[in-house]
Amino acid sequence: MAVSAAPRTKVLREAGALRRELAAARRAGATIGLVPTMGALHEGHLSLLRDARRRCDVVVMSLFVNPAQFRPGEDLDAYPRDEARDARIAEAEGVDVIYAPSTEHVYPRGFSTSVEVSGPLTAVMCGAPDRRGREHFRGVATIVAKLFNTVRPDVAYFGQKDAQQAIVVRRMARDLDFPVRIEVLPTVRDADGLAMSSRNRYLTDSERRQATALARALRAAESSARGGATVAAALEAARGELRGAGVEPEYLEARDAEDLSEVRSFDARPVLVAVAATVGPARLIDNAIITPPSQGG
Ligand code: AMP
Repeated sequence: MAVSAAPRTKVLREAGALRRELAAARRAGATIGLVPTMGALHEGHLSLLRDARRRCDVVVMSLFVNPAQFRPGEDLDAYPRDEARDARIAEAEGVDVIYAPSTEHVYPRGFSTSVEVSGPLTAVMCGAPDRRGREHFRGVATIVAKLFNTVRPDVAYFGQKDAQQAIVVRRMARDLDFPVRIEVLPTVRDADGLAMSSRNRYLTDSERRQATALARALRAAESSARGGATVAAALEAARGELRGAGVEPEYLEARDAEDLSEVRSFDARPVLVAVAATVGPARLIDNAIITPPSQGG
């Protein structure tokens, strides 16, 4: 009789159980890698999991749709959830532990603490009051701080696709002395250029075609910049691509890639060109980093 092997991936739902699970590995000197996700896994998530698998002894993937980072009226209820599928994929990628707590476990009655990265990092781009707002990043920083406390990872993986999130998390980890290395990996795209996102599944075929304008706009900005254009001209080239596809950006901005301050030229430091736009029912974001010519750009 064939005996099927016990699944290697454990699914744990409580912080205490997760801590106990990781204690022995930590004592033995194992390197622990954490990949925080909201599930609905796609190739973008997989690139993070694969890097973690290559470099760490123990890989923990968290799976939690964090209500604290959604505004009222956003897609919290509609957000795709399929834990069984995500668990199969994570197992195939060699994830050791999936941490999938309930909302009540993460935010029990009486929960009153939050972590806020204040200042410009959370005031601009998605953090502007008429957009997702600072509250979004407060929700992100709070859940990531909780995950860092529970998992105590040596390395935590984030995607460049959510550039502002990665910058905010890095700041938070530094400011609160979390002994973790933050790895930010490149944006994974579909063949048509569209940055992979769990929200892409909200799009119809024609909306999807329209959505590819975001990536085209960023490429237009990049090639203008490389051709010597000013920041304003590069953004105008990007805006032209969006306009041509009938996409109205929520924002399209060029900022310092490290501190998100305003930039006047592409000559000095890496520049983040970031765009957000709603296409059909999906709010999409994307970005590109333009490095100065002297840095091999
Ligand atoms: P999410 O499940 O959307 O919260 O994303 C979990 C992690 O995957 C975040 O660090 C994201 O930045 C990252 N991620 C999402 N989409 C992509 C992508 N297309 N390429 C690389 N990383 C991504």
